Amino acid sequence: MPRSQAIANPDQTKVGNLRAIGTHRERALTKIGIRTITDLLYYFPRRYLDRTTIVRVADLPMYVNREVTAVGTVFSISTIARGKKRLVVTLADERHKMDVVFFQGHDYWRKRFQTGEVIAVSGTVNLYGRTPNMVHPDIDRLQQDESLNMLNTGGIIPVYPSSSDLERVGLNGNTGFRTILRSAVTGYVDGIQEYFSTGFLHRKNMPPLDDALRSIHFPNDRKALEAARYRLIFDEFFWLSLQLAYQKRRKSNTETGIAFKPESPKARALIDSLPYSLTGAQKRALKEITANMTQPHPMNRLLQGDVGSGKTVVALLTMLLAVDNGYQAALMVPTEVLAEQHFRTITSLFNDLSVNIQLLTGHQKNSSKSDLYSKIASGNVDIVVGTHALIQEAVEFGNLGYVVIDEQHRFGVMQRATLQSKGITPDVLVMTATPIPRTLSMTLYGDLDVSVIDEMPANRKQIKSAIRFEEDREKVYGFIADEINNGSQAYIVYPLVSESEKMDLQAATEGFELLKEQVFPEFRVGLLHGQMKSEEKDATMMAFKRGELQILVSTTVIEVGVDVANATVMLIENAERFGLSQLHQLRGRVGRGDKQSYCILMTKKSIYFSGGAKATDEKKTLSDSRRRLDTMRDYNDGFKIAEIDMDIRGPGDLWGTMQSGYPELRLASLTEHGDILSDARAEAFALVDEDPHLRLPEHATLREVFKTRIKDKLVLSSIA
Ligand code: ADP
Ligand code: MG
Repeated sequence: MPRSQAIANPDQTKVGNLRAIGTHRERALTKIGIRTITDLLYYFPRRYLDRTTIVRVADLPMYVNREVTAVGTVFSISTIARGKKRLVVTLADERHKMDVVFFQGHDYWRKRFQTGEVIAVSGTVNLYGRTPNMVHPDIDRLQQDESLNMLNTGGIIPVYPSSSDLERVGLNGNTGFRTILRSAVTGYVDGIQEYFSTGFLHRKNMPPLDDALRSIHFPNDRKALEAARYRLIFDEFFWLSLQLAYQKRRKSNTETGIAFKPESPKARALIDSLPYSLTGAQKRALKEITANMTQPHPMNRLLQGDVGSGKTVVALLTMLLAVDNGYQAALMVPTEVLAEQHFRTITSLFNDLSVNIQLLTGHQKNSSKSDLYSKIASGNVDIVVGTHALIQEAVEFGNLGYVVIDEQHRFGVMQRATLQSKGITPDVLVMTATPIPRTLSMTLYGDLDVSVIDEMPANRKQIKSAIRFEEDREKVYGFIADEINNGSQAYIVYPLVSESEKMDLQAATEGFELLKEQVFPEFRVGLLHGQMKSEEKDATMMAFKRGELQILVSTTVIEVGVDVANATVMLIENAERFGLSQLHQLRGRVGRGDKQSYCILMTKKSIYFSGGAKATDEKKTLSDSRRRLDTMRDYNDGFKIAEIDMDIRGPGDLWGTMQSGYPELRLASLTEHGDILSDARAEAFALVDEDPHLRLPEHATLREVFKTRIKDKLVLSSIA
């Protein structure tokens, strides 16, 4: 759309041009990244006040213990010394009154109120005698006319995020920001440049960008606000997806990689020697990966499958394919225990295949390491299994063609890139046992192809999970004893008690002594923790695997990938302290064979039943822990659990670690807007397919705007 000459371009106008913004304000805004009027227009409200969200003061007694917003005029401000000293601000709404009570920061709060001003308070309602009150509520200042407008005509008032720095220059989240945004919107929003074509907006039923920006700040009604939110959330996901689409395109279509030949006698031999046949899902994944490997472009593929779904064998078969093609393959895992386990599994499975396999971890002696390094460099080693030691500078591969990264979520994006840089352009398979909600994998792994193993081996029984309290402890021990007497084995896991590894160790060590000496003197009990030497860990794991130990007491080091099919009980102490995905991983250590398995989540009654009623932060955490335990009891499906986890925690670290390289998400939420993400992603990928260099005239503006937003230089060069 051509820009009208009369309107200044907000992209190029400094915020200082607004009359209400002087040098102090300009400096404070610059500090939070707001330089131009456009930056300011993209500073969105954190919430809105309107008639529908407000309770009349007269009605407050009906909302005791609930969180609401009320509006009133400051009637009086007084300090009450009787009882606990407190500041009471009384608000009046016609003939009704309520108190706003502050126990802390008297002087601060006293200065913040003036009689006659109109404020909105949001908090939990209490009743003191017959007067309703709120203790330390959120406060929003309204101007007289705003409040009248809101209450009479149903206007919607935006409330902005602020900070003490901003408040110092008069930019509080209420009248302060509303004033400057009002003038930015009035004077400049018409100059905002639309990048989508009218046809596209029409097809998507979305408002133009200037309308959306106007309405996100000062909506006429709820409907306009919702339309604006949809448009702006769509846009955020669209820019993100567009970058991902280019990254994927670059990786899969343009770079030259190895075109492996699909025939692999070694893989064939391994399949024939397996004591089971592959599941349909495993076969499908295998086919997809193989087809991808035969392409002359580097593979970047994610293999997703719940704990115990049998990802390892799929990886191994494809590694053999690389070896049969004359290349080296590397398998990278997050822990030493796991590296050692994989190494042993592979060594015994590949017994007759004449493949040279080596283990490389951080704890090996330097002398043996340098020897190993030179073997790897000369190409004598076919398969290297290792931890992050694999990506250290000194490791050079002679002929690395294929990289498998297990339990990817433990590795940063950088590490993935480093290992890839060690080969020419090796094919990469990333495996994750932490099922990732669809929305996260679309973004986090948005540049990868995905194979899913969504079927468990046929011999599996559903693991039975139960929550138990201290009072049940004797019974629980009795149950474990019965299982062991029937020939099974058990894990008992102690949680992260504190940040310090020493403390962890103490809980597990004390637990171990007690269990070994007093609870299960008749059984063979072993201890595994992260501070043991790797040979000791190894020996203990092996002893458990061979059945020489019947109970393995452990810290969380056994969490990932450990495979002992005869173990049927997983007892998790202080289970409320674990995160959901960790609990799911731990539970996945049992139920790996054909016996019925059990997961027992120990917690305290006081913890399980507390929380929920009052929303102080501490209590909220406690009720979250109950949600986690209940989820574990009620669900076995890792994808379902991952979704609930994301709901409780938000997208968390996974997204946090990668977001820096991508356009920012401000309104868009991976937990709430999965559908909009799918929509935007489909449009972005279709666009890149249709017009890869954005050369069509209707994409000209889009192309210019994309160039300013994109953070990946390689992507930039591919459209430049
Ligand atoms: P994960 O996907 O969690 O890495 P693993 O690859 O460790 O799972 O497999 C779990 C267990 O299931 C292993 O003991 C493996 O030998 C076994 N397994 C794998 N595939 C099958 C299958 N198709 N049928 C029966 N057992 C299988
Ligand atoms: Mg695994």
